[in-house]
Amino acid sequence: ESITVQELANRMAEKGADLVKALFKMGTAVTLNQPIDQDTAELLVEEFGHRIQRVSDADVEIGMQGEADAPETLQPRAPVVTIMGHVDHGKTSLLDALRGTNVVSGESGGITQHIGAYQIKTKGGDLITFLDTPGHEAFSEMRARGANVTDIVILVVAADDGLMPQTIEAINHTKAAGVPMIVAINKCDKPDANPQKVRERLLEHEVIVEDMGGETQDVEVSALKRQGLDALIDKILLQSELLELTANPDRAAEGNVIEAQLDKGRGAVATVLVRRGTLKVGDTFVIGAESGKVRAMINDKGQQVKQAGPSTPVEVLGLSGVPMAGDQLTVVENEARAREVAAYRQEQATKKRTTAAPTSFEHMFSALNTKVIEYPVVVKGDVQGSVEAIVSSLNKISTDEIKVRILHSGVGAITESDVTLAAASRAPLIGFNVRPNAKARQLAEREKISLRYYDVIYDLLEEVRGEMAGQLAPER
Ligand code: GDP
Repeated sequence: ESITVQELANRMAEKGADLVKALFKMGTAVTLNQPIDQDTAELLVEEFGHRIQRVSDADVEIGMQGEADAPETLQPRAPVVTIMGHVDHGKTSLLDALRGTNVVSGESGGITQHIGAYQIKTKGGDLITFLDTPGHEAFSEMRARGANVTDIVILVVAADDGLMPQTIEAINHTKAAGVPMIVAINKCDKPDANPQKVRERLLEHEVIVEDMGGETQDVEVSALKRQGLDALIDKILLQSELLELTANPDRAAEGNVIEAQLDKGRGAVATVLVRRGTLKVGDTFVIGAESGKVRAMINDKGQQVKQAGPSTPVEVLGLSGVPMAGDQLTVVENEARAREVAAYRQEQATKKRTTAAPTSFEHMFSALNTKVIEYPVVVKGDVQGSVEAIVSSLNKISTDEIKVRILHSGVGAITESDVTLAAASRAPLIGFNVRPNAKARQLAEREKISLRYYDVIYDLLEEVRGEMAGQLAPER
């Protein structure tokens, strides 16, 4: 284990040149980018009056998985909503229309800023946060990175077009995440709109709306004519009430990156959705493997704000580098600590990249501790007939102890959407006489997804059966 002089300087929040000078005095001539050994590093640390503090895993796990807040500190928070659906069914139009319902947008004088999320204030004074990166890929990508930021999904289905492949994908991504869904049947202004047919077709995918005796709320809207929006907002608020969403606003902030980029004038900027606590200007933080100090915050109306509480999206300035969507922000006590945690995370990320095994079944099962073990899987095939045969055979090999759970099945090449869905649930992806496209293959490699190809159904079933049996071996 060695560290460069510069790295050590960063972690101690000292000037690299000062370290070089000190080393020279100690009889060692090195340059900034040269590595030094552990002993020398420890000497230097002491020389500069710092404590040697090893960062343990437990230390770094501060954050979402960390300690829960005491019940009496919890206060209601706004729901975070993501809109999904097939291309051209009106996701963007609906996001724009909903944004237009904001009762304070007119008087604030701010200019609408696209920062990846926005918040509206309803007529009744309630707040709702919308993530404005529609699509299930962004949704599942975030989830694969451990960021379950969405509380409610709005599934947009065009009433004239009905259920389409990406509608079904969106349903499956939402179900896999266990997030409640509200169906917005859009384009109801069109003469050929057939909302009832949409409701019926949804039954086939086990989405049962209230009219059909189910529990999923649905609402007819027209994003274009701005009809049905109040009803949709009411349903979001109702769902949100059922979820009893709360957070402690009075603690060091934690949040997730919604999007991030390098801005020409402003450096690295990230839109952060605060999950709990309140983020303030001047706060020192770690964000993914980067660190920083909040220099300024800008809300979705383009206004500078001094603080941001739970469920509030804000653009944060003052980052050391560009983090990734889904990365976690954690406010820490000081800069030295921030650098330390960031360096540790960077190390872990590199380790993970170089040593992570492909999605293993052990991993999958150890992540689950329900009584009935689930075996999640995504199935793609070349023709409808074989996909149906595979799905029904897979369901049949379920037992009382272990159940196959088909996250998604479909006809056609393996796409990025399939991979993100598999990645989010750490599930294997089975291709029957189909292959991934180039982008999906790259993503699968990055996410270490287990891709299996078969051309004989019998082989496929035997292998899955074997792995399922292996998981139920006596040593468990
Ligand atoms: P997205 O791909 O799901 O984001 O869909 P868009 O919001 O871009 O909408 C696709 C097309 O449908 C655009 O031409 C919209 O003007 C149109 N559209 C969206 N909502 C409605 C609606 O409620 N009624 C009608 N008639 N057209 C709509």
